[in-house]
Amino acid sequence: MSKVECKRCRWFRQAPYEANRTGCWHPDNLVSSQKAAYLDEQQIPGDYRKINLRGDCAQFESKLEQPSLLRRFLSMGA
Ligand code: SF4
Repeated sequence: MSKVECKRCRWFRQAPYEANRTGCWHPDNLVSSQKAAYLDEQQIPGDYRKINLRGDCAQFESKLEQPSLLRRFLSMGA
């Protein structure tokens, strides 16, 4: 089985641009979770280094690839 990298996973978010804390934001891995959306700031992500220590995380989901610039232009009809 090939190893998985957190940085290529859709649940990995990096501070400060993607989240307020760097970590694994999979709902099962949150250290502290809130049900109400307005309390999102209080959520604490899981430690992705520990969870994926061996590179075999079962919750890995690949990030969606961004379409190429040419493909985006073509979809706009340019
Ligand atoms: S620990 Fe697993 S679910 Fe979390 S970011 Fe890494 S690969 Fe994804």
